[in-house]
Amino acid sequence: MKSVFFRKHGGIEVLEYGDWPTPEPGPGQVRVAIRAAALNHLDIFVRNGIPDVPLPQVPGADGSGVVDACGPGVEGLQPGDRVLIQPGLYDNTCEFCRAGEQSVCVKFQILGEHVPGTFAEFAVLPARNLFPIPERLSFEQAAAFPLVYQTAWRMVIGRAALKPGETILIHGAGGGVAGAAIEIARLVGARVFATTSSAEKAARVREAGAELVIDYTKEDVSRAIRTVTNKRGVDVVVDSIGDKTWMTSLRSVAKGGRIVTCGATSGPNPKEELRLIFWNHISILGSTMASDKEFRLLLSVVGSGKLVPRIDKVFRLSQAAEGYRRIEEGRQFGKILLVPDSVERRWPDGD
Ligand SMILES: [Zn+2]
Repeated sequence: MKSVFFRKHGGIEVLEYGDWPTPEPGPGQVRVAIRAAALNHLDIFVRNGIPDVPLPQVPGADGSGVVDACGPGVEGLQPGDRVLIQPGLYDNTCEFCRAGEQSVCVKFQILGEHVPGTFAEFAVLPARNLFPIPERLSFEQAAAFPLVYQTAWRMVIGRAALKPGETILIHGAGGGVAGAAIEIARLVGARVFATTSSAEKAARVREAGAELVIDYTKEDVSRAIRTVTNKRGVDVVVDSIGDKTWMTSLRSVAKGGRIVTCGATSGPNPKEELRLIFWNHISILGSTMASDKEFRLLLSVVGSGKLVPRIDKVFRLSQAAEGYRRIEEGRQFGKILLVPDSVERRWPDGD
């Protein structure tokens, strides 16, 4: 089969497109013929090099497609079924899995990071990670939401327990998780404040439902937050940026507020002011991916049309490097998708 892969860590130049052995499904596993995959920042971290990534590796966490073959013991799925992929892999036996907290699994892994992923014509994964695609979604929409929306869902609802009427600050609203968090917070009925870096992105973030968009390149974010909240601060901060935003998060949250983190795109070791944390009774909450129950709930909300995954641009799988470049230059708004060259699709002229 054709796939995107890398043999060593590095920049865009280490990405290759070519032949890779077609994977065989083992017991409890299913082979999916990929119809669409989505790029995430995770794919960039994995390619650049984070611990535990085996080499060579096929990247790609998000994907959708058609069941191609089922391994022994798989029930309830047939070749030809339209499925989307939940990319969090868990053993289903540890104490956390038994308690329904799959993303806390002691053997938790992510597709395309620890095992070969979706930037290929076929991917193999456990049957329990496949879900029927809701009728209203195309393959491309179905591939666009699982990773970032489940991450945002657990942060905003599962961990921060955001309530209607509360205020929330979301950093870096152009990012995938942050964008999803804005939509989910609006669905909850919260007042959303967001930060971004350009006037063009600010207009789109406002359209997505943010009441106030702060250009962090021009304004002091925590001061703007104190002004709009009458010095009180926000109930919840969603921070996936790390080094560059952490102190702002601590200064923007209200007494008794919650800061929830799922990542550190600008670095994992920010300055921290402990006095702000204890004096203001701040809760710091960690979050990774989501539980099976949370994912099913999210899927039903997306299936009902209340959350609509935003697609930025679609590339052929052989052009994956272009998609990576677009994300790394911060030009996207919404998800970048990859479609195997063998899948028939109407492409705009010139693409
Ligand atoms: Zn487990």
